[in-house]
Amino acid sequence: LTMLGLESSCDDTAAAVVRRSASGAEVLASVVIGQTGLHDAFGGVVPEIAARAHAEKLDVAVRQALDDAGLTLNDMDAIAVTSGPGLIGGVLSGVMCAKGLSAATGLPLVGVNHLAGHALTPRLTDAIAYPYLMLLVSGGHCQFLIVRGPQDFTRLGGTIDDAPGEAFDKVARLLGLPQPGGPSIEREAMGANPKRFPLPRPLIDRDDCNLSFSGLKTAVLRTRDALVAEFGGLTRADRADICASFQAAVCDVLADRMRRALARYLAENPVTPCVAVAGGVAANMAIRARLEAVAADLGAQFVAPPLKLCTDNAAMIAYAGIELFEDGVRHDLTLSARPRWPLDTSQAALVGSGK
Ligand code: ATP
Ligand code: FE
Repeated sequence: LTMLGLESSCDDTAAAVVRRSASGAEVLASVVIGQTGLHDAFGGVVPEIAARAHAEKLDVAVRQALDDAGLTLNDMDAIAVTSGPGLIGGVLSGVMCAKGLSAATGLPLVGVNHLAGHALTPRLTDAIAYPYLMLLVSGGHCQFLIVRGPQDFTRLGGTIDDAPGEAFDKVARLLGLPQPGGPSIEREAMGANPKRFPLPRPLIDRDDCNLSFSGLKTAVLRTRDALVAEFGGLTRADRADICASFQAAVCDVLADRMRRALARYLAENPVTPCVAVAGGVAANMAIRARLEAVAADLGAQFVAPPLKLCTDNAAMIAYAGIELFEDGVRHDLTLSARPRWPLDTSQAALVGSGK
């Protein structure tokens, strides 16, 4: 089964070709066109600018992905496209592009939930079996999911305010470091003192699987302002120590919450002790190491996809499309874009929260 995948729900325009055969799944091509520079002047992704860039670049990405794979549309079995959740203009651009390709070729469409793409990535990269526990940590999301199938997710808990990637990006902005904030902060934190600034560990030791990051971000703001008030500014070492202290706090929170979620998961699923991470924040080596230690401590396998499949990409959408297609999912030209779309449909009440 060969699937073309399209992704345009945030600020990356992506297309990929993934094939699954008896010997496993293989990424034949994966093209990601970023929008670096386009949003710099605005301090965040501007939805209208993002949507225009997607509309301009989607066909370029598709052509490139097919060329890289050495295939044509005739070789595809179907077209998978992110149909939500995300910025509506971007999602619509992708859905429209996929519909155009479908109308021209007669290929069936498979609408894919962007979060399902992230959540199924460890099956693409490591062929792990269902069920498993997933920690999805990205710029817009943070949640623990039990993944039982391509359409079967149970949410154990998640952030009650910001996502950690958002906190990394805001803290970087506070300190005048370049975006995206995650890699900047990880770089600064290397070799710096994580104990110099005592920052809060929100919700730690609570008897549920929820997380919170907005208080941590506010504490960083206060720490910066106190240094500025006392010394007139930050030294390089101050900045590095704030980054290290912040990253250590995020590590502690994620490790504590992971311990609780994993224990809960293992109590119900002792036969498949496996936890996987996905999302851009899972690219952070300090965070990975801490989560891996928790998994080892509780006797669970730990799976973390390679970095380029952790951040937004279309290979994960094509792969999720393959699993859905095999599950019998087919869409046609009536496929609609869903800006909000929770993975765990039993939690429809959360639809308004955006997390
Ligand atoms: P979503 O997938 O939830 O819609 P998104 O598209 O912003 O959100 P990703 O592309 O998965 O998410 O991840 C981007 C986020 O990951 C950014 O917030 C970025 O700062 C963060 N990030 C990337 N690398 C690192 C790192 N090394 N350490 C911490 N955070 C990181
Ligand atoms: Fe994403």
